[in-house]
Amino acid sequence: MNIKNSLRIRLVALIFVGAFVLLMIMLSRFSSKQSDGNNIIKPVSPTPSPTPVCHVVLDPGHGGYDRGASGTRTGIGEAEINLAVARFTQDLLIAKNYSVTLTRNDENAIAETKKEDMAKRRKLMHETGADITVSIHMNKFKDSAVHGPMVFYTKGDTASQTLADCIIQCLCNTLEIPKRHINTGNYYVIRDSKIPAVIVECGFLSNPAEEEKLCNSEYQMLLAHAISDGIDMYRLSVVRSSAEI
Ligand SMILES: [Zn+2]
Repeated sequence: MNIKNSLRIRLVALIFVGAFVLLMIMLSRFSSKQSDGNNIIKPVSPTPSPTPVCHVVLDPGHGGYDRGASGTRTGIGEAEINLAVARFTQDLLIAKNYSVTLTRNDENAIAETKKEDMAKRRKLMHETGADITVSIHMNKFKDSAVHGPMVFYTKGDTASQTLADCIIQCLCNTLEIPKRHINTGNYYVIRDSKIPAVIVECGFLSNPAEEEKLCNSEYQMLLAHAISDGIDMYRLSVVRSSAEI
């Protein structure tokens, strides 16, 4: 073996040793990353499921030949106020990326008779693929001292009960009144509903002071804020409970 060959063999051996040392360094760095809690290589999370509760049916009660309750002083029909509050609520929900279906979007009823009208509203609630329904009304009572919002759900319907509770909490907070209880009621429009459904009675047209407020568009907007916040609160509760499963 001449000197030239000997040098070539030494050079090749040196390259092999160098590559081996480099490999060892890389392996040791990789294993130290694995043992470091903050740098653990985690599996890629699956794509999160779509946000639950994203489509809301708002049902402005009454309309057309059926004006509903009327104001003691002004004679205004609740149908008109229901629509105003529903439209404000719709705008707020759309701004928060909900999709919204209104059961009526003008002063008219949606069918020739009251019975057909109610049936059509129920059909809309269930055939539009909505996640929840909020029916908006104004109240009336023989004792004119009675006032304040009320939220009704069907007894035994726990999802609707949660929705009702979220909305009454937000109404009481927004209107700065003490927390009220929710109520059960046997109403055709929300009875046996396939989706959570509640009736929001925003206030009493039989109470003169409240009638004045309910006719005011700023107060109607306040009610709309409270209802949309209540829907948000309900959505959050659904997200949290599905995350716990
Ligand atoms: Zn009503």
